[in-house]
Amino acid sequence: MDVLDKITNLVKKHKAQLVIVSKTYPATRVREVYDRGYRAFGENRVQELVDKKDELPDDIEWHLIGHLQRNKVKYIAPFVAMIHSVDSERLLREIDKQAKRADRVIDILLQAHIAEEKSKFGLSVEELTSLAAKISQQEFPNIRCRGVMGMATFSEDKDLVRSEFALLRNIFTQVKADYISEPSFDTISMGMSGDYEVALEEGSTMLRIGSLIFGEREK
Ligand SMILES: *Cc1c(COP(=O)(O)O)cnc(C)c1O
Repeated sequence: MDVLDKITNLVKKHKAQLVIVSKTYPATRVREVYDRGYRAFGENRVQELVDKKDELPDDIEWHLIGHLQRNKVKYIAPFVAMIHSVDSERLLREIDKQAKRADRVIDILLQAHIAEEKSKFGLSVEELTSLAAKISQQEFPNIRCRGVMGMATFSEDKDLVRSEFALLRNIFTQVKADYISEPSFDTISMGMSGDYEVALEEGSTMLRIGSLIFGEREK
């Protein structure tokens, strides 16, 4: 049993989902994982996502997990399965507009800033709840808000990481109670190569894992 089998078993046990993060790895490596039956892959750059989509089978579900610039939304709107990294109202408006143009409803997650580090993208709790309120008032007819996403501090301190994941779960629960109660609001995207076990324990429903499966990235 290899590491991908191990992750898959744990994901099943927690009734979660796995997005395999293929950024920086060539399409040939992605194809090997695809051939083992995996269909959900994540990229953090639009150009790389579009290039890989062209090289790989059509039934892959592509997830955009990294910071997204508004002027690039149009390149992925026709096919993207989920955008995890909605971190501003202006970006959400652009996704809604491009989804309408593509005659689609696009699944999105609101990215929360949960880490200690200042550098990471994401909405504050206040910004996130105010955006959720606008979504609940049907301001964005061509998006479907599926849940929240966050990245914990890159740290060996498991208690810190755990508390940040617990915070994200609480944000999810609060938004569901106050604003978006639809059954499709069901996703907490948290957990990467270094912290996925803690993330599952804290209620993650969707892991985003790359380097543990493919090997360390070249810098
Ligand atoms: C790169 C990345 C991941 C996966 O990171 P690994 O450490 O390779 O598992 C997950 N989420 C986001 C947003 C990323 O940019």
